Amino acid sequence: MAWQVVIAGGGFAGFYAARALERVLPRQSARVTLVNDANFLLYTPLLPGAAGATLDPRHVVVPLRAQLRRTDLVIGQVTGAEPTRHTLGVQRIDGERIELAYDQLIVALGSVSRTLAIPGLSEHAIGLKSLSDATALRNQVLTCLDIAESLEDPARRAEYLGFVFVGAGYAGVEGLAELQDFAAQAIELYPRCRAQGMRWVLAEARERIMQEVPASLSQFAERELRGRGIEVRTHTTLVEVSARGATLSAGEEIPARTVVWTAGVKPSPAVARLGLPLDREGRVIVDATMRVHEPSAHAQADPGAARVWAIGDCAAVPDAYRSGQPCPPTAQHAIRQGRLVARNVAATLQGGRTRPFRYRTKGVVAELGRNKAVAITLGIRWRGLPAWLIARTYHLLLMPGVGRRLRLLADWNVALLFGRDPSSPGRLGSPTPLARD
Ligand SMILES: Cc1cc2nc3c(=O)[nH]c(=O)nc-3n(C[C@H](O)[C@H](O)[C@H](O)COP(=O)(O)OP(=O)(O)OC[C@H]3O[C@@H](n4cnc5c(N)ncnc54)[C@H](O)[C@@H]3O)c2cc1C
Repeated sequence: MAWQVVIAGGGFAGFYAARALERVLPRQSARVTLVNDANFLLYTPLLPGAAGATLDPRHVVVPLRAQLRRTDLVIGQVTGAEPTRHTLGVQRIDGERIELAYDQLIVALGSVSRTLAIPGLSEHAIGLKSLSDATALRNQVLTCLDIAESLEDPARRAEYLGFVFVGAGYAGVEGLAELQDFAAQAIELYPRCRAQGMRWVLAEARERIMQEVPASLSQFAERELRGRGIEVRTHTTLVEVSARGATLSAGEEIPARTVVWTAGVKPSPAVARLGLPLDREGRVIVDATMRVHEPSAHAQADPGAARVWAIGDCAAVPDAYRSGQPCPPTAQHAIRQGRLVARNVAATLQGGRTRPFRYRTKGVVAELGRNKAVAITLGIRWRGLPAWLIARTYHLLLMPGVGRRLRLLADWNVALLFGRDPSSPGRLGSPTPLARD
């Protein structure tokens, strides 16, 4: 009988695990099933480009069915698991609840925005983690400009022309830079708004922005943002958000109808329902081979019998180069963990040896809009236009599928020639209700 390998989550980690399993497991020997809540892989590093209107939102996703020809795809929500019975609970897209039996389970459920108990945050702020977040942000900028243009009172207009980003990791900085660049182009079509000007604020709790890159590159990025009139506030936290503004820790109240929260991630909530050992941050605890040592008596008696693996943002995979610390939540780690876990699963099924995960971050790229970026590749630091070219080439090479790459290339070149598209894509996927005669 064929082995049943189930992968929970079809992001970077789960997708690359499935793709590698298709290659390493003989065709007839195993059935690979991937469960994901959407039929696509979201290429998150390009989300700021979708929010900033250089990319069509549909072009920052990879259709899973087109790329995974030998994997069964189940679209639905992972709802729980019975580790002792080796089953995964799923609510399929049609609403039916099913149980998937597995010989090997790979948990790759990723992460969601990490929020704090800040008054008004969940009601009034937007994250930048999903395709709907990116689309909503692009629409929000245009809606704010449209409303501001129609208002007579400059004080009220200022609320709609105020934009606050909280959290200056690369996701926050890229998101802010792309969106501000987009708004700076769009505002040319709004004479009243252009005369009044916009206000963009970036708040970061730590001493500098973009902790992921060396200080010299983060200083370059900060200078670049300040040069565009963006107010960068370090050592600053968000205290309160309302429908009309944000209050920062220094006591300043910033009129803003748009507050974007990009202050970190936490594991997907479904991870806590799988009955697996978790660390304090809620990530699945795994060994260096990414295997979970389940608490069940059977698994404790024979660790080799453990059948569950966890990878990507939802797992605390030990970092071989930073003693006692887990790998950082990045796509480059998730991709490599996915590939290696596939080989380890195959080795376990076929009686081979599993290998520990060892990966040192090779580089970082972060686009800053206006054809500028910061990047580190193999220890070399780049900034400005060369870094921007490296960033775009990197994403072009990493994007799975020639068709997807060509779409990116077309979008980028059209935006270079004709500017960013100032039309709002509306609420994608929501049809207009048919009116009764
Ligand atoms: C704006 C932004 C920019 C980024 N830029 C970079 C970058 O430039 N470089 C870099 O290396 N990293 C970057 N990252 C980080 C990178 O996106 C993550 O580290 C990476 O996506 C982790 O991969 P993953 O497979 O663990 O999780 P994900 O890619 O999040 O995939 C998890 C999958 O599981 C699905 N899922 C979750 N819960 C359930 C459930 N209950 N049932 C079914 N399916 C479920 C999700 O929908 C998703 O498809 C960025 C992140 C963001 C938000």
